[in-house]
Amino acid sequence: MSGRRRAVIECFEEIPCNPCEAACPFGAIRIGECITSLPQLDAEKCTGCGRCIAACPGLAIFVVDPEYGASEASVDFPYEYVPLPAEGSIVAAVDRFGKEVCKGRILAVRKLPSYQGTTVVSMAVPTQYADTVRSMKRLGRKELES
Ligand code: SF4
Ligand code: SF4
Repeated sequence: MSGRRRAVIECFEEIPCNPCEAACPFGAIRIGECITSLPQLDAEKCTGCGRCIAACPGLAIFVVDPEYGASEASVDFPYEYVPLPAEGSIVAAVDRFGKEVCKGRILAVRKLPSYQGTTVVSMAVPTQYADTVRSMKRLGRKELES
């Protein structure tokens, strides 16, 4: 993945669901009249604001910046576990199936009233994992020391 910060929608089930469409203030997500249609992202309209992340009940929306740093991407993802990670902490970055792929550094942890209980976590990972990493797991002390 290359380019600028934008949403990545990984919604593959044709279920009756559309809050992502209403959550985007820029009209970048379209489902249309058939509520079981899969959401389509207009990447040109997407600003990467992240408002759609917590709106998705399926936890299927991420915001990825493949050029966050010289050798790092950032991945913003929904997180519904406690305790929450601390900003600056090192965690295990995991793929869509929960398998650890690398370490991640927590950039921000956002809990807003409009998120209705879902926290949005922003994490930096090596650039090559921008398309792979989608969440995190906490590391134990031994893993942190290794
Ligand atoms: S990141 Fe912001 S602009 Fe992009 S689709 Fe989500 S709500 Fe819309
Ligand atoms: S809100 Fe999430 S689960 Fe529902 S249609 Fe949008 S992306 Fe898919």
